[in-house]
Amino acid sequence: MKLACIADDFTGATDLANNLVRSGMRVMQTFGVPTAPLSSAVDAVVVALKSRTIPANEAIAQSLEALQWLQAQGAEQIYFKYCSTFDSTPEGNIGPVTEALMDALHCKFTIATPAFPDNGRTVFKGYLFAGAVLLNESGMQNHPLTPMTDANLVRVMQAQTKRKVGLIDHTTLAKGTQAIADKIKQLEADGVGVAIVDATSNDDLKTLGPALKGMPLVTAGSGVAIGLPGNWGLQSSAQAAALPAPTGHQAIVSGSCSLATQGQVAHYISTGRPSWQFKPLNWTTQDVPAQIKADVEAALAWAKPLLAQGPVLVYATTDADTLQKVQAKFGREQAGEWMESALAQVCLGLQALGVKQWVIAGGETSGACVQALNITQMQIGPQIDPGVPWCFAPQHPAGHLTLKSGNFGTPDFFTKALNVLAETTA
Ligand code: ADP
Repeated sequence: MKLACIADDFTGATDLANNLVRSGMRVMQTFGVPTAPLSSAVDAVVVALKSRTIPANEAIAQSLEALQWLQAQGAEQIYFKYCSTFDSTPEGNIGPVTEALMDALHCKFTIATPAFPDNGRTVFKGYLFAGAVLLNESGMQNHPLTPMTDANLVRVMQAQTKRKVGLIDHTTLAKGTQAIADKIKQLEADGVGVAIVDATSNDDLKTLGPALKGMPLVTAGSGVAIGLPGNWGLQSSAQAAALPAPTGHQAIVSGSCSLATQGQVAHYISTGRPSWQFKPLNWTTQDVPAQIKADVEAALAWAKPLLAQGPVLVYATTDADTLQKVQAKFGREQAGEWMESALAQVCLGLQALGVKQWVIAGGETSGACVQALNITQMQIGPQIDPGVPWCFAPQHPAGHLTLKSGNFGTPDFFTKALNVLAETTA
């Protein structure tokens, strides 16, 4: 294993893995820290944690546990991945986790940059922009968990770090890789431990990449990843995204109520393919789990004779009005948990009926379904839409899956996904 990554949330982990695959690395993503060794030989591993907003000491403990496992697999360089909007508070967790990893790796210097120009995240003179506006004018100032009220990343990082924070700015980037390497030496000599790095284009990230060769720890959003595979002589190739040919039946399971997903469900149904909808408004408030069990059995009985003919769609996706009514009836959190549990039970039942190709829509829904299917590791394959790749879980019963959260994907995503899998593995 060349590059070992620790990501602070699940969908961010897939985003990073996707960038690495597109830049030429074969990548495995794990959910949490695995208990067993790696199941396939790959160039990079991304351990997905859920450590973004948990207490800093817990985020540190989980990250160090991930580090230990990655080191045991032979990691050459560690990459701590956080959000491209640098989601954090003065308590962390970006600063404290960075420092804990630096201590564990005896690393005197590292960089920090969430720049991801393809996604509109750029850093200029140390200030982070989201699209055309500064981070603190982008809506992120109102984030419920990590409000970002200052776009100056040197200040933001310094508030959560004991080490001195510096800046490698765009004038250095413009002079090229050697100038960045020289600047790193100078900053180290000045006692700087962490440097924010400007980047406003993919070219900047590609200039930065070679200057990071051999640095024990890199901390960044997913953008910096595009400049790293070249350090091991790797280049973009279809081979990096190659997955085994799919087997088994196909199912689409959707619990996302985002607008894009509503459109995707409607589009899929309009093609005349079979679908089955959960209608929680029909549930009474008495003994909901028993009603869920009955619904799950009905969905599976419906799906069973259809699976041999092609994909089936089972969904809870609904419009904002209905969603509000369901939430008013059962409580927002409880309604979400019950739907997640219902869809996870559907997955288990469909798996028993031979489904091995999964399109799953919804971030939280994906988490529940992946857990029910007992998937702990997956190899990252070809991209379907920006940020959404096909994956292959090698554990028994092996299968292909794509996890599409929120507003990702074009309206024809469901059929497109299954076509992409068939075409890229043909
Ligand atoms: P997204 O990625 O679009 O945010 P998530 O799966 O993360 O999707 O979140 C959607 C949430 O809405 C889940 O908790 C899911 O269980 C819940 N949900 C889905 N359909 C319904 C429904 N019909 N009524 C109530 N809650 C629902």
